[in-house]
Amino acid sequence: MNNFRPVPKPKHKRLKPTARERGAVSKEVYATIMEREHECCGRCYSGHNLQAAHLERRWKLQLTTYKDVCILCHDCHYWADNTAEGREWLKAKRDALYAKECK
Ligand SMILES: [Zn+2]
Repeated sequence: MNNFRPVPKPKHKRLKPTARERGAVSKEVYATIMEREHECCGRCYSGHNLQAAHLERRWKLQLTTYKDVCILCHDCHYWADNTAEGREWLKAKRDALYAKECK
């Protein structure tokens, strides 16, 4: 007789999403911003090494929406996250997206 009974997984969920979950870019969001940005980098218009870049610091977000991310190539992403000029650029980009109320 097999009496092995695995402990069922707990049914409750975490009340608050983790920072990683809040910062995650869903497939839908990614598809939306790729279309919005015409599949090129929002700064230099390169079509290579594209990434979803957060416009806002992740820890400030409850959830990442299409207004919280843009498309940047690897180099511009690094520039945006690591220079004062880059952070200003991200802020302006985000302000523009929220002002337009569009995709
Ligand atoms: Zn670029």
